[in-house]
Amino acid sequence: MAISMKDKVVFVTGGGAGIGAATALEFAKLGAKVMICARREATLAEMESKLRAAGASDVHAFVLDVRDREAVETAIAQLPAAWQAVDVLVNNAGLSRGLAKMYEDDIQNWEEMLDTNVKGLLYVTRAVVPGMVKRNSGHVINLGSTAGHMTYPGGGVYCASKAAEKSITEGLRIDLNGTAVRVASIDPGMVETDFSLVRFRGDVERAAKVYANANPLTAEDIAETIVWVATRAPNVMIQTITMTPVSQANAFVLARKG
Ligand code: NAP
Repeated sequence: MAISMKDKVVFVTGGGAGIGAATALEFAKLGAKVMICARREATLAEMESKLRAAGASDVHAFVLDVRDREAVETAIAQLPAAWQAVDVLVNNAGLSRGLAKMYEDDIQNWEEMLDTNVKGLLYVTRAVVPGMVKRNSGHVINLGSTAGHMTYPGGGVYCASKAAEKSITEGLRIDLNGTAVRVASIDPGMVETDFSLVRFRGDVERAAKVYANANPLTAEDIAETIVWVATRAPNVMIQTITMTPVSQANAFVLARKG
């Protein structure tokens, strides 16, 4: 039987846009207490009112760059009392930068991807999970990717960051074995969000081409899946969900129609 999310504290990193925003909204519809963070204050403020309107029993939004280890530690340690007991952590904040060949790439791109997708995820996990262990209750849901299963041209470092997410998820699951804390990885293929716009640093035309005639997944598709994972009975641990649009067999085989 599905478990209730009413008044549960759900923390979504990168909850200002894309998959994170859709996930926060989906939990809000179930009456959860929704906490989001991201770097851009304006998108967070917009999300705050949307989350309340969607039915969140409370909302807490704060600016946080998950790459900043000290800021993560401080932000989590200083959460208002009502927000300290996180029931569901969605480690979603992440990005890709460019598609250059590795031996020619700007090293800054690697730093951004690895610092966000790997180290940022670890910092937030390290700050939040001890409370879950203490309460013997909680759920960590990480955003992986099919990129972590199969490397594609120009994506070596991004794919490495998602392969690292896979190992970190498996390792955390082993470390938490014997507790009631659950760990899942949701591994999507192509989802139409700002992801490509960020990858191509604001090049709208190039980003649009990624999704053209591909009938990609939507952020809502992923959000519904994350909520499904979080609401399974307490004895059930969904470990990994790989999901792609029907048009996408793998990173190389994509049927574009039209
Ligand atoms: P998106 O639309 O660009 O959203 C990314 C979110 O993460 C934004 O809210 C962004 O907000 C936040 N973020 C980025 N860097 C951050 C940082 N250092 N600290 C805090 N927040 C940060 O991208 P998305 O497609 O929703 O991606 C979400 C996750 O899904 C990522 O982990 C991505 O790798 C994964 N994923 C995406 C796809 C896809 O095709 N879209 C496929 C598989 C996996 P700010 O910029 O304001 O910080």
